[in-house]
Amino acid sequence: MDISVHSLDPSQRHPKPADEKNLVFGRVFTDHMFKVDFQKDKGWHDARIVPYAPLDLDPAAMVLHYGQGIFEGLKAYRRSNGEIWLFRAGHNCERLNRSAKRMCMPEIDPAFQLQAIEKLVAADRDWVPHSLGSSLYIRPTMIAVEPHLGVRPATEYLYFIITGPVAAYYAEGFNPVKIYVDEEYVRTVRGGPGDAKTMANYASSLYAAEIAKQKGYTQVLWLDGVERRYVDEVGTSNIFFRIGDELVTPPLYGSILPGITRDSVIMLAKHWGITVSERRITIDEVIEKARSGELKEIFASGTAAVISPVGEICYRDKICKISDGSVGELALRLYDEILGIQYGQREDIFGWMKRVEI
Ligand SMILES: *Cc1c(COP(=O)(O)O)cnc(C)c1O
Repeated sequence: MDISVHSLDPSQRHPKPADEKNLVFGRVFTDHMFKVDFQKDKGWHDARIVPYAPLDLDPAAMVLHYGQGIFEGLKAYRRSNGEIWLFRAGHNCERLNRSAKRMCMPEIDPAFQLQAIEKLVAADRDWVPHSLGSSLYIRPTMIAVEPHLGVRPATEYLYFIITGPVAAYYAEGFNPVKIYVDEEYVRTVRGGPGDAKTMANYASSLYAAEIAKQKGYTQVLWLDGVERRYVDEVGTSNIFFRIGDELVTPPLYGSILPGITRDSVIMLAKHWGITVSERRITIDEVIEKARSGELKEIFASGTAAVISPVGEICYRDKICKISDGSVGELALRLYDEILGIQYGQREDIFGWMKRVEI
């Protein structure tokens, strides 16, 4: 499928943010967006890059009522030589298709998704920030647009991609987060849509996140929805525990989002000779090993921050400090390595990076 390009007239282009360091995540968007339509009888058609603009959506569009909507999140990185690179972007395209399948939405050829991402990034290449750690955040999204009230899979969809420059996550150095273990609310359950990047998961996580914030915590640590004993994720990131010489992360058993950063952490740690165990771990084990001193580090993984060290957990109103609230050595090593690979400063031994053709 060809992608047509309707560029914004240069005189109408928006000014680039002057201060790359103070960009608030998700507030500034570039000049263009990508769109492609789906109708049941026509399939995907009319792929186009157009000026960034509000959508023309029928108030009966099914996504607004029944939540058929999925998305992805990835970044484009500018290297010191000016080249722009993507990190494991093919995995995001495949994951979007898995989310689509789960939500009864049509899949899109991953190679075509990637082509659309690259073409859009190339069109707005001047928006990719220059400072190390800053990047162009890319948000592919698919929504049900058929105007129809009644619960069934829609027959019409829109897939679009928007992008926006974002600052380095840790402009002021690592800042270990404080997490709150919620026993009352759950993010999802096995059999639910927790392993799909679907909009409903985020809406249903807000209430517990607000409670955690009121108590002074940055993120919620989600326990499994059935027994409420096993650790699933933290906020919208995957979670890792360094216990003795072992790196533990919950297995992808149905309620956990299969993070691409998670997978990268596992691959790197194994490559370094670290024992990685994808096993279920109870919150009681976490607290017990923290008390005994065997728990050396906790960190979260995700595209936005890469690695977020956890400095404190609150469980049943008891506070447990992790590695004295400082940044763990493995968290730092993984962060440096992944960032180094993304910005071309470290060898890309796994072939994770792809250069965007300009
Ligand atoms: C996106 C997401 C992650 C992290 O995935 P990455 O591919 O590493 O960015 C983890 N958990 C949830 C719930 C997510 O939505």
